[in-house]
Amino acid sequence: MSKRIFVIGGGAAGMCAAIYAARNGADVTILEKNDRLGKKLSMTGNGRCNLTNLDMREEYYNLSARARMKEWLGIYGVEDVICFMKSLGVVVKSEDGYIYPASGQAQTVVNALKNEIDRLGVEVIYNQQFKAVSRCDDGRYKLLIKTATDEYRADECVISTGSLSGAKSTLSTGDGYYICSQIGMNIKKTYPALVGFKVDPEEMMPENGVRTIAEISFTLGNEAIATEYGELQITKDGISGIPVMQASREIVRFVEEKKPVYAVINFFPDYDDEDFKSLKNDMLRLKDNRTLAEFLNGFANSNVNDMVLSRMKLSPTMRMKNISVSMADCILDNYRNLKLKLSESYGYQASQVTTGGVSLGDVGSDLSYKKLPGVYLAGEILDVDGRCGGYNLQWAFTSGSIAGTAASI
Ligand SMILES: Cc1cc2nc3c(=O)[nH]c(=O)nc-3n(C[C@H](O)[C@H](O)[C@H](O)COP(=O)(O)OP(=O)(O)OC[C@H]3O[C@@H](n4cnc5c(N)ncnc54)[C@H](O)[C@@H]3O)c2cc1C
Repeated sequence: MSKRIFVIGGGAAGMCAAIYAARNGADVTILEKNDRLGKKLSMTGNGRCNLTNLDMREEYYNLSARARMKEWLGIYGVEDVICFMKSLGVVVKSEDGYIYPASGQAQTVVNALKNEIDRLGVEVIYNQQFKAVSRCDDGRYKLLIKTATDEYRADECVISTGSLSGAKSTLSTGDGYYICSQIGMNIKKTYPALVGFKVDPEEMMPENGVRTIAEISFTLGNEAIATEYGELQITKDGISGIPVMQASREIVRFVEEKKPVYAVINFFPDYDDEDFKSLKNDMLRLKDNRTLAEFLNGFANSNVNDMVLSRMKLSPTMRMKNISVSMADCILDNYRNLKLKLSESYGYQASQVTTGGVSLGDVGSDLSYKKLPGVYLAGEILDVDGRCGGYNLQWAFTSGSIAGTAASI
């Protein structure tokens, strides 16, 4: 008789687990709280779905996961995701190593997963909120699964209820953390990650916002904790963009604990000290009767200029002849060293992933929960989070395939 498996949560990890289990001949049911599968997946990569990345390394995941990721990526890595997509009829393309569906549409990936789920005869029960799992003592099944309204019996179950991130439209309310803690799992404190930050309300920020390439370093007190390069977005109350999101995983816990975390922005990342000194000397030769605004006009983005001047409490109409050389030098130095105090993250709602979750110490290599036989975990509910660039969906597929396969054999 085929094994009866419940997959709880039909996101990327759950759909993948269901497919691998059903392909092995198991009788699979997905329990989904939403009225459709893969809601978050359909929003990924700005609707384009960055599936994985050819530059795959365990160090792109959180420190507590790295040692285990080496093993798990060895079992199911980038090529396996690409083959999996191929098996679903999804053609993929690489953009500098970032792997996307060739359709350019995340929804086509969701549709392909759903078509395979239907083809394999997997039952999907929608609008059902999983509430608890416990040992079953009816002599036939191992597990009793409870939802808000019903009870189900199963041989095995895969819990893949995701995280707290992107909550509003996806119903990702982190239910799984509580349910897992009820059956004895250790939950590592969670924080939003791949997220932007608000700055201290005292900081002078540009009204119109700035989008520019920059290097951005983060310090805890005086200690440097992360440096990233890329397109930075500065708004009137905070900072975001890829370099901020990448660093957010390292710094968010300090910010949320109200420790003194600063962002130090270098708007001239391609200049070393010597180059910048020579650039400044060229600029200082222009120091005549023109206004500060005219002086800085061609130097950097006008919104950056406004931001630097307002932070230094200087009027753009000041005449350069009234500004000393050392002061002008100091103004220009600000463009490589603009310091902002961070106050809080933009929160789970705005974040792409959650750092923390079910401790990896609770699961075996096959992602089974050691203390309740028959229970497996997959996806973001576990304490695994990766950089931006396809690393989180890679984990969803890696963990989904490992848990779904192990549950079915
Ligand atoms: C805006 C955005 C863009 C992103 N872009 C990318 C990207 O391009 N590349 C990338 O690698 N990663 C990206 N991510 C991250 C990636 O989407 C997640 O890491 C991944 O979807 C996690 O998969 P999961 O299956 O673990 O969780 P989810 O996809 O969140 O699925 C969990 C499922 O469980 C269901 N559920 C929850 N609680 C219950 C319950 N109690 N009972 C029943 N069902 C329940 C939910 O409704 C959901 O369907 C992005 C995230 C966001 C928010």
